[in-house]
Amino acid sequence: MKPAYHMNEAGSERCPYCETNYSGYRTSGFNWQSALKVEFPDLARYATALYKVEDLRLGSLWACRHCDYRFWLDSRENMMKAVPPKNRDVFTRWCSQPPVLSREQRAAIEALRPVDRHEGCREVPASVRFSPLLDPCLAIIRLEREPDVLFSSDEHVRLATDICAIEPTAYALPYDIRLATSKVRFIERPGSDYVESEQTKVQSPMGYMFLIDGFESCFAFGAIRGADMKFPGARRPLLSRLNRPTRVEFPGYLKTWVLAEP
Ligand SMILES: [Zn+2]
Repeated sequence: MKPAYHMNEAGSERCPYCETNYSGYRTSGFNWQSALKVEFPDLARYATALYKVEDLRLGSLWACRHCDYRFWLDSRENMMKAVPPKNRDVFTRWCSQPPVLSREQRAAIEALRPVDRHEGCREVPASVRFSPLLDPCLAIIRLEREPDVLFSSDEHVRLATDICAIEPTAYALPYDIRLATSKVRFIERPGSDYVESEQTKVQSPMGYMFLIDGFESCFAFGAIRGADMKFPGARRPLLSRLNRPTRVEFPGYLKTWVLAEP
């Protein structure tokens, strides 16, 4: 029986061959070597459904034979990543030209003190203008050669070549706190499907305590901004003894990711 295709006008929906994986979710990426070795039936299905379109300046472009979905295979031919339709244009531009910062932009970013996120990847929050006519955005500038951030469908991503001006942002946590959140451990809780990061305790100028998640580099709570925060001192302020620490998650939709060559 011929499989039913569910392709909308924009071609953004995937055919049954690449729609769901073994746990019932759409794949955002998978190990290509495992797929080739037929280690898992669900992955083997991709190995026959995908064909190589072309080699890129880094890695290669692949497409599904049954639908319009595109995939990127890293240069070590290890991980195959699905390109979300909303990031396809940015991905195409990234493929044609690396997003290289100017000397002035690089100096402005180094002055903001990026922290290591993982090997070959540094990050720093900034207030970035993409046009002299538009308001600045809160941006997380990611200095990484591989375009991993493009493959998350939740993130709004721009390229460093789109930057018009870079300034500090009050939402950025101080360097020592960003360094601490980038180094937290991940803990697997019994009975939970999720791996959680350890939380970092920080203090507001008034002495309120807050808990922030691993890898967080920005903070806002009422009128308090990241730049106001510090690590709790040795003496616990009165307010922290009266109130439990508040867990604060910075809203992801407020961030624009900017991909730049390291
Ligand atoms: Zn498909």
